Amino acid sequence: MLRSLRFAKLLAAAAFGLCLAVAGPVAKARPVYRTTMIAPGLYSFGAGMAFNAFMITDDGVIVMDSFDKAFAEASLQAVRSLTDKPIKYVVYSHNHYDHIGGAQVFKAEGATILSHEATADWLKRHPSPEVVMPDRTWSGPKSELRLGKSRINLLYFGPNHGEGMTVFEFPNERVIYTVDLVVPDRVGFAYMPDFSPREWERTLAELDTLDFERVMYAHNAPVGPRSSVANQLRYLKDLRAAVVAELAKGTPFMRIPYTIKLPQYEKWDGYEEWLPMNAWRVLLEIAMGV
Ligand SMILES: [Zn+2]
Repeated sequence: MLRSLRFAKLLAAAAFGLCLAVAGPVAKARPVYRTTMIAPGLYSFGAGMAFNAFMITDDGVIVMDSFDKAFAEASLQAVRSLTDKPIKYVVYSHNHYDHIGGAQVFKAEGATILSHEATADWLKRHPSPEVVMPDRTWSGPKSELRLGKSRINLLYFGPNHGEGMTVFEFPNERVIYTVDLVVPDRVGFAYMPDFSPREWERTLAELDTLDFERVMYAHNAPVGPRSSVANQLRYLKDLRAAVVAELAKGTPFMRIPYTIKLPQYEKWDGYEEWLPMNAWRVLLEIAMGV
């Protein structure tokens, strides 16, 4: 059961959107998206379960992730309400279709699609009709993307979630945009698909050494304090410790995920439904090594 106030607000917003849609000519519910200025030129766009990022520079616009086609069209409209500068780049955060499936909308505007080479390699092997292949790739742990006077550091921490997972660092704004690796006030998503819990923990610890004040997210909220990185890491460590403790106690293997309780996180979204699934993921990594 998802119980937070934020979720309640989201439901209210969704219901509101539905009313509008039913009243209008097109009877299709649409989330109530909003644009949030994070710093001059740096924006979050989206609602609830999907927020992308864009940066307006002197020489054009950089978009980070598109989500699906409908989201990308709304995102393009949001950009266009602020500037008529060309869309120069769309940068993919990682290979998961749900985050990048609408990039064609920006490519049609002339954008170059950029990703880490690990993302592009995976997409070559697992193409989707919705996903546009990157036009250019970058490699290694860091690449600097400059446009006008603006600067984005593209950071790769190695395996953690998906392929070529890129964290966007805005050094002038002292902000990062991290996708899927930090979701504020929520336990891990479902069975934590395509996550390596121990590499995720390592990445969060490394991320927490960078110089930034605020974090932009892809899910649950547009932006929050840097402490959300440490909170995410603490949850994963507490979850692992609870699994290890059950193993040490001799709790039957198949019962362990249903035995674990972490009451300090019971207010987090997804606690009741997803905690056992999260525990399965960590337990199986401990048992199988992957
Ligand atoms: Zn993902």
